Amino acid sequence: MKTLPHTLAGLALVSLAAISFAAAPAAKQPEPTVITPGTAGAPPSDAIVLFDGKDLSNWKSEDGSEPKWKIENGYAEVAVKGILTKQEFGAIQLHIEWATPAEVKGEGQGRGNSGVYFQGRYEIQVLDSYNNKTYPNGQASAFYLNSAPLVNASRKPGEWQTYDIVFHPPKPDADGKVAPGSFTVLHNGVLTQDHIPVKGDATTSAKFTGASPTGPLMLQNHGNPVRYRNIWVRKLD
Ligand code: MG
Repeated sequence: MKTLPHTLAGLALVSLAAISFAAAPAAKQPEPTVITPGTAGAPPSDAIVLFDGKDLSNWKSEDGSEPKWKIENGYAEVAVKGILTKQEFGAIQLHIEWATPAEVKGEGQGRGNSGVYFQGRYEIQVLDSYNNKTYPNGQASAFYLNSAPLVNASRKPGEWQTYDIVFHPPKPDADGKVAPGSFTVLHNGVLTQDHIPVKGDATTSAKFTGASPTGPLMLQNHGNPVRYRNIWVRKLD
């Protein structure tokens, strides 16, 4: 009978100590901003919407003119030239939906080819990779010519597919060299690039030199009528 209160008091002390010990490091972190998440790929409340299905007012053609892409039924279809965002970005989370032509034409790199270029230079490949062989680091969801996807998560031609991509650009370090950035990619909700390094000297089909803090997003014209919809980004820096 006499020991019970002591035991309880002891437990309370231990619990209090545990709580204050656990609370200390958390108190140093800032309170996370409250946002409203989207449903089924819709943009969360803190996203910058780049294409909502209505117009390409946030984009320009590669030659600086107005984009000539066809817009109908909530999507934009590749034509004539690639398009770039008017705004430039550093580290971002990107959501984009795309569909290759339902009518299959061509093969390999000639079938449903487009691409999402970060900073106008680092390409995550868009390709009809459903029963369509090509070199591994050139198929859908590849970091083009750098890293093949972990799996081929492609849907059939004509079906809508999603990319959710986290990109951190390479940055110049104190020694004047380039500290690698990274790509993490989910293709149709499946992890396909797991924190892959992005080096300043990476090769892609775009020509460039050195690291850049920001740059535009570009959607490639590769001569195939690939469709895009629901494009939004969140800035990470
Ligand atoms: Mg491409």
